[in-house]
Amino acid sequence: CSSTTPITATMFPGDGIGPEIAESVKQVFTTAGVPINWEEHYVSAEIDPRTQSFLTWESLESVRRNKVGLKGPMATPIGKGHRSLNLTLRKELNLYANVRPCYSLPGYKTRYDDVNLITIRENTEGEYSGLEHQVVRGVVESLKIITRQASLRVAEYAFHYAKTHGRERVSAIHKANIMQKTDGLFLKCCREVAEKYPEITYEEVVIDNCCMMLVKNPALFDVLVMPNLYGDIISDLCAGLVGGLGLTPSCNIGEDGVALAEAVHGSAPDIAGKNLANPTALLLSGVMMLRHLKLNEQAEQIHSAIINTIAEGKYRTADLGGSSTTTDFTKAILTHSSIFL
Ligand code: NAD
Repeated sequence: CSSTTPITATMFPGDGIGPEIAESVKQVFTTAGVPINWEEHYVSAEIDPRTQSFLTWESLESVRRNKVGLKGPMATPIGKGHRSLNLTLRKELNLYANVRPCYSLPGYKTRYDDVNLITIRENTEGEYSGLEHQVVRGVVESLKIITRQASLRVAEYAFHYAKTHGRERVSAIHKANIMQKTDGLFLKCCREVAEKYPEITYEEVVIDNCCMMLVKNPALFDVLVMPNLYGDIISDLCAGLVGGLGLTPSCNIGEDGVALAEAVHGSAPDIAGKNLANPTALLLSGVMMLRHLKLNEQAEQIHSAIINTIAEGKYRTADLGGSSTTTDFTKAILTHSSIFL
């Protein structure tokens, strides 16, 4: 156990399978002696007029104050006309970059053994600006906003990430041949930043070709940076390369040093409340949070415990072809790993 002063972090267990997998994280962190006090916040049943969302002002203030947090999935009812909780968080907290590492897990066989990708998604604008309206009956319009400021910011983050994590290549993913102004500006900003990093190879790949290349040979890529919608889609594609949404973590990076880690997947209503969810994605998101806090020793301990449990193959949840429950898999991480002792 560590004697470090505890750090307060915000925890959003979230909806659907969220509370089940959040419980798993809390148990593993406690057993590993991680010096974190969780400040738990739940999605409200009513809209908070201060945020115009089911997320309360107090929840947002908690992340602003603590500057670090872990978030479970939050459900967004389709077409119900209120602000998406995830969009509210990203906008209000200015979480401008979503970093999603995607790597092959040793011992869990998929088509490729050598996936090691980082997707970096612009998180605040693009097609997700929330500006949609009906022009006339039968015609609707959605605005895609790309700004120089947000594009430079995410490109800078991607190149800095590549440099500080020993990565060699940054690929900007786009459709500038069709969306010449919006994606064109995004690419222009990436090129500007690339010039400051001559040691990093820079390339531009059209999104459709990128999908084909990723599926054929993911080793062609290293760090990928892209506007919001493409990032949403490509990161799920990458999750599929290594075994699915139950395995892939992410971390949202904000301007004032805020880091809010979250699993890539949603609330999985089809398996919610059944003790079937795979907690790995949220656990690995927690590991990203620990690395952000420079609690590297605990991060590595927990990371190895998860990887070893999956590699051993005895306890796996249904999404990985096993029959373990969420609680059994969590227990296996705790008891099948002597590293916590
Ligand atoms: P989903 O990710 O919830 O589920 C897709 C499929 O993956 C389902 O079959 C589900 O059972 C499976 N799955 C997902 N996570 C899993 C896990 N940890 N273990 C085992 N299986 C898992 O996507 P969806 O069904 O499109 O979305 C459901 C809800 O989640 C929607 O309201 C959506 O808006 C929301 N959502 C939230 C986030 C977020 O909070 N960041 C992300 C995506 C979707």
